[in-house]
Amino acid sequence: MSLTDITTRVARAEAAAGRPGGSVRLIAVSKEQPHDRVLPVLRAGHRLFGENRVQEAADKWPGWRDEFGPVDVHLLGPLQSNKARTAMELFQAIHSLDRPKLARTLARLAQELGQCPALFIQVNTGAEPQKAGILPDDADNFIAECRALDLPVIGLMCIPPVDEDPATHFTALAQIGARNGLDALSMGMSDDFETAIAMGATHVRVGSALFGARR
Ligand SMILES: *Cc1c(COP(=O)(O)O)cnc(C)c1O
Repeated sequence: MSLTDITTRVARAEAAAGRPGGSVRLIAVSKEQPHDRVLPVLRAGHRLFGENRVQEAADKWPGWRDEFGPVDVHLLGPLQSNKARTAMELFQAIHSLDRPKLARTLARLAQELGQCPALFIQVNTGAEPQKAGILPDDADNFIAECRALDLPVIGLMCIPPVDEDPATHFTALAQIGARNGLDALSMGMSDDFETAIAMGATHVRVGSALFGARR
């Protein structure tokens, strides 16, 4: 679908949920996409993208920023501590803060660099063993721990289990956010972003619906 098709669907979902237009930000997930699919979206003026890997983003975005001017790029995928410095210099937000060790590394680097991207804590709402994210029961403590480190945590992120109703997971994430005073909710992908908007998403991460299937 075109960028206009997706932004229209976002706007309709906002309206259907009784939310103000523009309350949801569309993250165009450009990971693993051929450049000739991403360039039209940049040329159309979209300036918020998502990537899964630090190295892939480091290869693409500095050049595109030279060409198109400032573009916000958010890291959605897992972050290893040894890539944290590069990530902090490259991304405007990181959606995958998921463990105390990474929190401490980011806090140390934030001091050193004098800056830190906006942070989302990833919550493993389905408690899936193979999936990243803090367990729901540990979320309140981990949020407090990150705040004690002075990290700029603005919200929460989740990736629901593939075989379950995502609405349950979006609602659970929204509840953790509400009781911790975190306003930003990164939830909803190509197949379920309208549901996520109904449940309060502020950031939807749309890849294949916008760019086509990944290679
Ligand atoms: C790949 C990815 C997306 C985009 O998925 P689509 O189904 O292509 O929209 C969103 N969020 C994360 C964390 C991803 O890894």
